[in-house]
This record gives sequence, C-alpha cells and structure tokens, in this order.
Amino acid sequence: MKITFLGTGTSQGIPVIGSSHPVCLSSNPKDKRLRVSVLIEWDNYVYVIDCGPDFRQQMLNAKCTKLDGIIFTHEHADHTAGLDDIRPFYFKQGDIPVYAHKRVIKALEDRFEYIFETENKYAGAPGVTTHQIENKPFTLGGINVIPINGMHYKLQVFGFRFNDFAYLTDMKTVEDKEIEKLKGVKVLVVNALREEQHVSHFNLDEALAFIDKVKPEKAYLTHISHLLGFHDEVQQRLPKNVFLAYDNLQITL
Ligand SMILES: [Zn+2]
Repeated sequence: MKITFLGTGTSQGIPVIGSSHPVCLSSNPKDKRLRVSVLIEWDNYVYVIDCGPDFRQQMLNAKCTKLDGIIFTHEHADHTAGLDDIRPFYFKQGDIPVYAHKRVIKALEDRFEYIFETENKYAGAPGVTTHQIENKPFTLGGINVIPINGMHYKLQVFGFRFNDFAYLTDMKTVEDKEIEKLKGVKVLVVNALREEQHVSHFNLDEALAFIDKVKPEKAYLTHISHLLGFHDEVQQRLPKNVFLAYDNLQITL
C-alpha cells in the first residue's frame, strides 16, 4: 500500500492569503501546505480521502490518471469543495463512487445540486454514485475498511483504518471503544492543529496523547496550521516515532 500526502494544511492552507506570519513566508517546501487529503493506492486501486479546494492541483502534483473513488471524512468545505474537479476522471471512467456518511451525502447534494441532477442534466457536469458509510466495516478493492467514529466539536467525523494504516483528521474527541479499533496499526495519521487549544481540533499535546494510546509503530501529524511553527523546528521536538507530515510525502507499507 502506498500513501501520498496530497495536502497537510488546515482549512486556509499555508501560506494563508495575505499573511506575513514567518511560517507563511517560509521558503521551505515543507512549510507549504495544501488542504488536507491523502491518496491511497494498493494493487490497481486508487482512492482519495476527501476532495478539498486544492483537489485539482493535488491530482496534477500526484500525476494521478485514474480514481476509483472518494472517501469523505465529513462535509466541511476544506474536505469537499473540489468535487467539481472530478470531471476529467468522470469523462474517462464514468460515475465516480463516493463513500460518506448519509449526512455528508445530503450536504454534497445540497451544495453540488447539478452533479446529482437526474433530469436535463448539464452535459459538462460530472456524475457520482453514492455509497453510505455507517460505523461498520465495508470493502474497497478487496480490503476491509474500518470506520473510526469521532467528534469534531459537535460534528460527527469518520476516520478510516485500511489494514495496518489508519487516517484520522479533524478529530477532537474519540471514544475508547473507537480507539480499540486502531490497536495494532503500524502507521497512524492524526490531526494536530497547533500548540494552543482549539474547540474542534486536537492540539499538539492532544494528538501526542492520542498516539500514546494507540501505540502505532509510526505516527504522522496532519491538518496543520501555520501557528504550529516551522516544519523543521517542530519536527525536532517530536518523539522519535512521530513525524510532521508534509505535502507530497509518500510512505509505503
Ligand atoms: Zn478540516
């Protein structure tokens, strides 16, 4: 299985438009962060988790030529706003499968009404097939995918475990019985916004405490704000099995 971090930034991305914060002005490519998403490939299958406003650029950066589906964590714009840009895949492959909680599917239908139009649909519009995710395992490309339920303040969010790999973003609270489902995972990705507390995201300490409960071999932090600091400086302060993810980082397992 190959994982590509397509984006590792929080909702505004880094640099933030118009910001003169030193991290936003950094020339280190590891301090440039598109909105959060990962590409997951195994055998001949290619899936993305989330489809934010940087989706087009991310598909170009990853030289992605086919897409077997999009798995959504939740409906916030930084995770969904790029849905229209599935068109090149749709023109080649037909309807693109999307996997999401039924509340998220409803939000996509409201926001991208023309994609879901059944009568007199605009010829240039993309199409999708929808697949509801409940909090129970489902199969994708021969792999058992285990949803991990969590809360993003008051909003339900799904993380996902694919065999030895798990990806959780936009988590603030996760019940112990959900954490149990992560036991034995080799690589865990989890959100860490900044050092200061935030109402709907783990801060760095909360992310590290979460990693300590799961005890993966390696953990990667994502959904990062410029306020967390420079990549290279933050990395030096992390435990030896914890890494700050950065855009275009690839891992295989
Ligand atoms: Zn987000």
